[in-house]
Amino acid sequence: MNKVGILYIVATPIGNLKDITLRALTILKEADLILVEDTRVTKKLLMHYDVDRPVMSYHQHSSDEKKLHILSKLLKGKNLALVSDAGTPGISDPGNELIDFILERSDGIRIVPIPGTSAVITALSVCGFRADKFIFLGFLPKKKKNKLFEWLKEGPSASSRRTITFAFYESPNRILKTLGELKELIGSNRRVLVARELTKLHETLYRGQLSEVIAKLENEKIKGEVVVVVEGK
Ligand code: SAM
Repeated sequence: MNKVGILYIVATPIGNLKDITLRALTILKEADLILVEDTRVTKKLLMHYDVDRPVMSYHQHSSDEKKLHILSKLLKGKNLALVSDAGTPGISDPGNELIDFILERSDGIRIVPIPGTSAVITALSVCGFRADKFIFLGFLPKKKKNKLFEWLKEGPSASSRRTITFAFYESPNRILKTLGELKELIGSNRRVLVARELTKLHETLYRGQLSEVIAKLENEKIKGEVVVVVEGK
């Protein structure tokens, strides 16, 4: 039987280019092909580290033909590395659907994780709230009737669900509205962390009771990427 290739799932920085592991750099430098979400974004990283390997785009809208093309490369023994624009692939980013597609069609292919940063874990690491257990909700649905609020409000064990620290990704445009709705549901003195632009020049941690954080954010127009962590009660 021919030797099949390996698909490496490689975490990349969420801002500061130094936040990449030595192993990730070795894998990227040795890969036959790097699958990238957006070529312009990843090019900066690859150029910074003199990684001169072929790249091909792969993103959430990639067709099944593209996935079959990737599978055929693996079956021919090529080693591929998949990265997303930032952080860990598969965490609110493409990756897992490709893994599923490949494993459904060939169980001989090894999927190897190359761990590194993720914005949610980075935010949890500095929240100062208990995070031995936490729930990650990814991006909240944009619909009016928000799933987060249904989740917090309804169901027989709703009160116990509120006891666990939870985190989610949010856009800077919606952050104030979301925090306002959250205040309605869980009260103004629940503690939160809004972690903005983690590892970047304008990194800011807004931490305090919901009403205090809302007041701070109303004064400063918040820009950039944010993660919200809400303390379990
Ligand atoms: N795969 C990524 C990870 O592992 O963190 C997440 C990608 S998701 C498409 C992008 C969201 O992650 C942003 O909208 C923001 O909520 C959060 N995020 C990514 N980088 C961030 C940073 N440097 N600071 C704060 N939040 C960040």
